[in-house]
Formats: sequence, structure tokens, C-alpha cells
Amino acid sequence: MKAERSVQLALLDVQALDSELLQLSHRAKTLPEIAHIAELDEKLATLNDNRVKAQTELSDQERALKKSEEEVELVRTRRVRDEERLNSGAITNPKDLTNLQNEIAAIDRRIGVLEDAELEIMEMLEAARAVADEAVALTSEADAAKAELVAARDVQLAEIEAKRADLLADREVAVPRVSEDVLALYTKLAAQYGGLAAGVLERGRCSACRLELNSSDLREVLAKPADDVVRCPECNRILVRTLDAGA
Ligand SMILES: [Zn+2]
Repeated sequence: MKAERSVQLALLDVQALDSELLQLSHRAKTLPEIAHIAELDEKLATLNDNRVKAQTELSDQERALKKSEEEVELVRTRRVRDEERLNSGAITNPKDLTNLQNEIAAIDRRIGVLEDAELEIMEMLEAARAVADEAVALTSEADAAKAELVAARDVQLAEIEAKRADLLADREVAVPRVSEDVLALYTKLAAQYGGLAAGVLERGRCSACRLELNSSDLREVLAKPADDVVRCPECNRILVRTLDAGA
């Protein structure tokens, strides 16, 4: 394959741009924020589970308290009614009077038991509220931390994207300076070698594989006409010879 030196140098420009583009996509994928966000997402899933459980427990206790208050209210109403009957003078039979007094005493005991239970529920409700408040606070804290990380990630991704657009624009300019057949070979080798398809021969060393050519290979490479597209004897990539290639 033949290509003028200027075409081969243009290919090195394309390679340099492609290498930078590759580094950029690697950077975009490996931003530390991305890993931190994933960690936080896991933590948030647990925190949200805990929050939902705590809030469910809280509303269970609130319901229990309401039920208990209604129960106490009901028994109190009955006591007021019995008391009124007792004081009305309508009941004269001593046995009925004793029965009513016993009933009122039983109601008082019942009210005592119910109020004790209500107090217990109130204590549990307060504890549940504290747990729920804490769970909500922890979740919002993690949510805020995540929002901060997402914002930091997005700033960097925007910077990377802007840089990428610049590089692609430069590539648009560089690519037409490379002949089609050389570009096709480059593209094929780039796919094969993870993006690095062309190196430059610097002081007897291939910049792509970083290996030094042995003296007979070097002599052979340097003896070829300047417009020959040479391949590195070590890594088989395109090897561009600059004017001081062998020095
Ligand atoms: Zn090489």
C-alpha cells in the first residue's frame, strides 16, 4: 500500500484524536461519582424499606390509639348514663340499686384498664414516631447526597461531551486528508487492536507497542520507499516513519 508522507502524518493525527476520544469515553464510564451513586442507590433502597416499615408501624399505632380512645369514650358514656339513672331517683328497689352501683364500679375498673392500655399505646406511638422521623431524616440525607453526586457527575459528563464534540470536529477535518485505502486499513486494525492501529517510529521504537525494532528489521523498514505504508514488525500496526525515525 502506498501513501505520501503527508497522508501518513494525517493518519497519525486521526490516531491521536481517536486515542483521546477513547480516553474520554473511558473517563465518562469510570467517573468516581458513578460508583458512589451506585453505592448510594443500594443504601437508599434499604433506607427506603426501613422508612416505609417505620411509617407503617407509626400509622398502625395511630390507628390503635384512635380505637382505644373510642373505646374509652364509649365506656365513659355508659358510665354517665348509669350515673344519671342512679341519681334520678327512678330506681328504688335496693337490689336494682346495688346492681347499678356494682355496674358503675365495674365500669370504673374497666376505664382504668382501658386508660392504662391507652397510655401504653401512646408510649409505643411516640417510639414509633421517633423511629419514623429518624428514618425519614436518614433517607432525605442520602437523597440529598445523591443529588449532589448526580450534579457533580453531570457537570463532568457535560465537560467530557463538549471535549468530545471538539475532537470529533477536528477528526472531521483530519479524516479527508487520509486516503481511503489507508483509512480502511486503519479502521480494520483499530477494531482489531482496541483502538490503537497506528504508531510512529521514534528512535527505532514503535510508539504503538513501545518495542524497539531489532537492527535488521529497522534497516529494512527504513530502506523502504517513503510512500510505502509500513507495518510494525513487532505488533503489525501501521508504522509511520518520521524524518528522524532511525536516529
Ligand atoms: Zn509496534
